[in-house]
Amino acid sequence: MFSGRNQIGTVLRPRSGRAMRAGVMCVLAVGTIAAGLYLYLVPGASASIPFSSSVGGSSLSSAQESCPIVAPEEDIDRKDVQSGPCSQEVVDLTGDGDTLYVLLNANLLDESVSRKVADTLAAAIQQNLNKPFDANTSLESGRTYGVTIDQNGNFLKATLELNPADVFHAALENGKIRCWKEEVVLDYKVETISFRLDGTLEKSLMKIGEGAELARKLFDVFRWDIDFQAETVRGDTCSILFERRYADDRPSGYGRILAAVYNGRKTGEERKPGRKAAILFDNQYYDSKGTALKKDFLRSPLSGVIRITSRFGMRFHPIYRRWRHHDGTDYGAATGTPAYSIAKGLVTFAGWQGNYGNLVCIKHDSGYESKYGHLHRIVVKKGDRVKQHDRVGLVGQTGDATAPHLHFELLVKNKGNYKHINPLGVKYVSAPRRIPAPLMKRFTSLYEERLMPLEGMVLIKTADSGSSAVAR
Ligand SMILES: [Zn+2]
Repeated sequence: MFSGRNQIGTVLRPRSGRAMRAGVMCVLAVGTIAAGLYLYLVPGASASIPFSSSVGGSSLSSAQESCPIVAPEEDIDRKDVQSGPCSQEVVDLTGDGDTLYVLLNANLLDESVSRKVADTLAAAIQQNLNKPFDANTSLESGRTYGVTIDQNGNFLKATLELNPADVFHAALENGKIRCWKEEVVLDYKVETISFRLDGTLEKSLMKIGEGAELARKLFDVFRWDIDFQAETVRGDTCSILFERRYADDRPSGYGRILAAVYNGRKTGEERKPGRKAAILFDNQYYDSKGTALKKDFLRSPLSGVIRITSRFGMRFHPIYRRWRHHDGTDYGAATGTPAYSIAKGLVTFAGWQGNYGNLVCIKHDSGYESKYGHLHRIVVKKGDRVKQHDRVGLVGQTGDATAPHLHFELLVKNKGNYKHINPLGVKYVSAPRRIPAPLMKRFTSLYEERLMPLEGMVLIKTADSGSSAVAR
């Protein structure tokens, strides 16, 4: 059963975008955990309400009796491992179409364990909320979840936030899965921060004491407008008006980003300096003129801050040992990282194709076609209609690839033929979505209250000096 252990380690090797989150949680686990919500997650704490505990059975198909989900001898050291500094927690936000099973299976290699934990936790959630819920129920996107594994990649704990008031946990305790709901008094306060970019978005925010979750939320706000890999540079400044969540008066994550301004040296037209602004209005983000930020095409097929390992153009090929044209962009990411469709479209190919390994091709409106190669697993099939940000597969190393990465190609129809173009340089043509005229008055007053103050902010100290003081 555990012959695949080394493989588990490979799959869970920190992802480019997730590595730091895992690292952060590692530090939290041994350090400042008491400051956060996680104090409340300690199994058996008085704040937890155990229910549907000890779900298992003597076989994986039995669901309601206690039993180890792994061989008993595997459990002996589990407690030590759990409290040790080497456990790793991946914390991320749910995406469109995610289910409990999908999230667990993306982080655990043993499919039967993923299924077991997902079914057990789902049964507990259903019982608590008293409404239908199973491991394949689609989750709302943008919700926080976490999966903790030991150094060998074995399941230790999972957390799923359905909404701020409904946070559920499953943890392995003495070989059994125990589930409970968190009991907290939740409160939100609106706060403002400003910071200067120094390293990645996540690193820069962490330097001023914020969490990676805020970086992810900010990334999501600007995901159609800013390529955080290619267009952001050290010294750029950013201000955010956001909700900070307090659980029993302790800072505990984030609510919504209400407004944000990014001043970059390359974020304007043609990589010139430019300011990007966002304000939340009727559950959508708009710029200061009232144009929706959401566009028909995403800037990148992977979420979060990603690493480009090879660009479009001539390059010396590592396998063929000669110069040849690289028809796409390679994004370095760990095996299992979800790859998303950049826009709605029709899946025209999903399967094995020579050097590409597992490949998905999608035709979009306006004559665009996108291709996703070297996938570890494909989760769509030919003929499927996909929406923007639907999962098409998981990053892998199939076909001709020297390391796990996504080979992403973009083509555009030109006189009847599809021609490769540089995904990083493309300016997609799509009609802007404006706020309807009757709502403009309300938008304007919200703009003046929330976004204008951010636009007027001047950073007087940098994140380097450990301060984020701002002046109006
Ligand atoms: Zn490539």
